[in-house]
Amino acid sequence: MSELSELYQQVILDHNKKPRNFRKIESPTHTAEGHNPLCGDQLTIYLDLVNDEVKDVSFEGSGCAISKASASMMTQAVKGKSKQQVEDLFKGFHLMVTDDSETPEELGNLRIFEGVREFPVRVKCATLPWHTLHAAINKEELVSTE
Ligand code: ZN
Repeated sequence: MSELSELYQQVILDHNKKPRNFRKIESPTHTAEGHNPLCGDQLTIYLDLVNDEVKDVSFEGSGCAISKASASMMTQAVKGKSKQQVEDLFKGFHLMVTDDSETPEELGNLRIFEGVREFPVRVKCATLPWHTLHAAINKEELVSTE
C-alpha cells in the first residue's frame, strides 16, 4: 500500500472515530433515511435549508468506517453550499467512485474516496450518505423555514 493511501486511510479512520456533525437537528427542513443492506449501513440525514442554502446539516446512524467517514466529510463539504452546488458535488462524487476518469479538483478532500472505485462492494458504503442527502434535498420541505 502506498504512503498516500495510508494517509487516506488515517483520515477515514479519524472521521469514523470522531464523526463531524453527528447529531440530530431538532427541526430540520428536510430529512431522509438511507439503508445499505449489503453492508448493514443505515443513517438519517438532517438538513436545514434556508433560502436555498445549506444552513446546517447533520447525520445519525450506524455503519462501517467508510459510510460513516463519508457522511462526516459530506456534511463538512456541503455546509454553506447552495442546493445546486450540493447536487453538483453529489454528481461529481458519484462519478469519482464509479468511473475511472480523472477526478475533478472541486471535490477537494472528498477525493480521498477515489480509491473506493477499486472495491465495488464499498462504493455503496461511500455513496449512501450522498444518495440519502440527495433524496432529502429533493423532498418537499417538511417544515416552513420562514
Ligand atoms: Zn458499509
